[in-house]
Amino acid sequence: MADNFWRDEEAARFAGDLGQRVYSSRLLGRDPALVLHGGGNTSVKIREHNLFGDEVDVLHVKGSGWDLATIEAPGFSPVLLDHLLRLSRLDHLSDARMVNELRTHQTVAAAPTGSVEAILHAVLPHKFVDHTHADALIAITNTAGGERRIRELYGELVVVIPYVMPGFDLAREVARRYPAEAGPRTIGMVLLGHGLFSFGDNARQSYERMIELVNMAEGYLRDHGAGEASPAPPAPLPQTGEGQQARAQAGLRLAVARAAGRPMLLTRDDSPEALAYCRRPDLNKISQQGPATPDHVIRTKRLPLIGRDVAGYAAAYRDYFAQHAPAARQPVTMLDPAPRVILDPELGLMSAGKNATEAGIVADISRHTMAIIARAERLGGWQALPAADIFAVEYWELEQAKLARSGSRPPLQGEVALVTGAASGIGRACVDSLLARGAAVIGLDLDPRIDTMLARPDFLGLTCDITERERTLAALHAGVRRFGGLDMLLLNAGMFPGGTRIAALEDELWRRVMAVNLDANLMLLRECHPFLALAPGDGRVLVIGSKNVPAPGPGAAAYSASKAALTQLMRVAVLEWAGEGIRLNAIHPDAVFDTGIWSPEVLASRAAHYGLTVEQYKTKNLLKTEVRSRDVAELAAEMCGPLFRCTTGAQVPLDGGNDRVV
Ligand code: ZN
Repeated sequence: MADNFWRDEEAARFAGDLGQRVYSSRLLGRDPALVLHGGGNTSVKIREHNLFGDEVDVLHVKGSGWDLATIEAPGFSPVLLDHLLRLSRLDHLSDARMVNELRTHQTVAAAPTGSVEAILHAVLPHKFVDHTHADALIAITNTAGGERRIRELYGELVVVIPYVMPGFDLAREVARRYPAEAGPRTIGMVLLGHGLFSFGDNARQSYERMIELVNMAEGYLRDHGAGEASPAPPAPLPQTGEGQQARAQAGLRLAVARAAGRPMLLTRDDSPEALAYCRRPDLNKISQQGPATPDHVIRTKRLPLIGRDVAGYAAAYRDYFAQHAPAARQPVTMLDPAPRVILDPELGLMSAGKNATEAGIVADISRHTMAIIARAERLGGWQALPAADIFAVEYWELEQAKLARSGSRPPLQGEVALVTGAASGIGRACVDSLLARGAAVIGLDLDPRIDTMLARPDFLGLTCDITERERTLAALHAGVRRFGGLDMLLLNAGMFPGGTRIAALEDELWRRVMAVNLDANLMLLRECHPFLALAPGDGRVLVIGSKNVPAPGPGAAAYSASKAALTQLMRVAVLEWAGEGIRLNAIHPDAVFDTGIWSPEVLASRAAHYGLTVEQYKTKNLLKTEVRSRDVAELAAEMCGPLFRCTTGAQVPLDGGNDRVV
């Protein structure tokens, strides 16, 4: 059931009609069973005075690019109501022209462009208008006999509009039908195959009517054996191991990226709900009809792929395009034919996107769609809109215009990096540099603060001791599950024990340094190799070495030897893996003092040891410059990027110039 989130004491903090509009819009946005990720829209009609003191009616309608859950007053576009009403009486208006009219008749130049459903909001003769794509409503309309069920359920409470594509045509249809069909008891409107509207004289009334209408739909579903139910546990399948599943997922991601013509992330959900759906015996019938509501097609494409034949999916997509493109209103350019949703009986639900946010949105929409379809099946049989209607939205002129506008993308977008020692110092700086270039990042660290270091969809922080193989493998597989694979491995974690000369060097210390700086990295290279080989672009490895490799120092035998051995290990991998397009390079930094090991006390004592001030000590290099973690991270990220496309096996000093290295 939908909860009524309205609280008078909260609402009182939002002043005026527009403030009330902001408040109740957020209440709708808070419930993903009503609207998901930018879906739905709301409006309020307000009489205002213009610069000349004239009274004008203004429709404040949700601006494009805003999400109801987080909308603010500037997220509403104020458009002259009379102009919108005149437009609604035209016989024809292209959607591109309609957007132009919205933009040229808004009263605040800097406001966002109003929703394409602005004219529809304008023609409804109510002060507040709320629109959602409520799951429960769609589970009823998208069934055989959906219209009959809606009329039986709501009677005179709603006006029912048969499916028309969103945009001007829908607004015109509503302008014609609504006044004729609305009665004294009407509180809302159902757009078949699309969604639900409610109206009111004030924000609370309109919002509470939405909740009431949705809960009537919930009640109807429950009474007809289609209530919210926990799905049956998934049918058991012979299970392969985590590693095998992760490699299968990375292989699928590679195929998706190839079909898309660009790197893509592929996130996996193998929850019992997802697996139960993917193992339904009628999966083919129920999943191959179309999305729950047409605007999901922009995110999910019309159909999910069942199984792993990405090439077959792409071929079928080309056929679908060839079949429907001739009927489009204007010439259309084919989108990439890669699937965005994959349903695999063994692996579960997988969702593709060019970045983590987009993949997450696809996953959320898919989970809601699976639940809606399951309920519609119990009600009387899921039935999506015909392919031609979905194609029209997918290849809508405004969406096509966005393609033409799309500019350059971040250099590492759609790619995944794993950074060890990611909670502080150089590792932390690498995380920032990679994220800034559009990569998704898996950060491992001994320090448990890594788990909550960054709350963002493109970062996964995991506590992990890289000398423990099982734990490290589990972290690697968790990263693949979240993002789909691995493109870049940054070997940064290492330990630097204080000055011990060889004559006093204990076996135990030597082994510990080797275990962290060398053995763990061999294991990481070996275990990550299958994933790097499946990277859509080049697989890349970046080794954070040390100045001590070319120029060792006394008292650092274990450290220098371990970093030198790691560098040699990298050079052998360069030779062994070049055929798979994997390139490996190293940076040899020196005297990076903004890291965990260099506390102010240590710094002061080392400076004093050389008879220098801290400042002199930090810049005791040829260039007399301070080397910071950020300098190392920026170079590391660049060396993973296209600039170093042709470079493998390189060792780059980053030390301000050292006379023993040059
Ligand atoms: Zn809608």
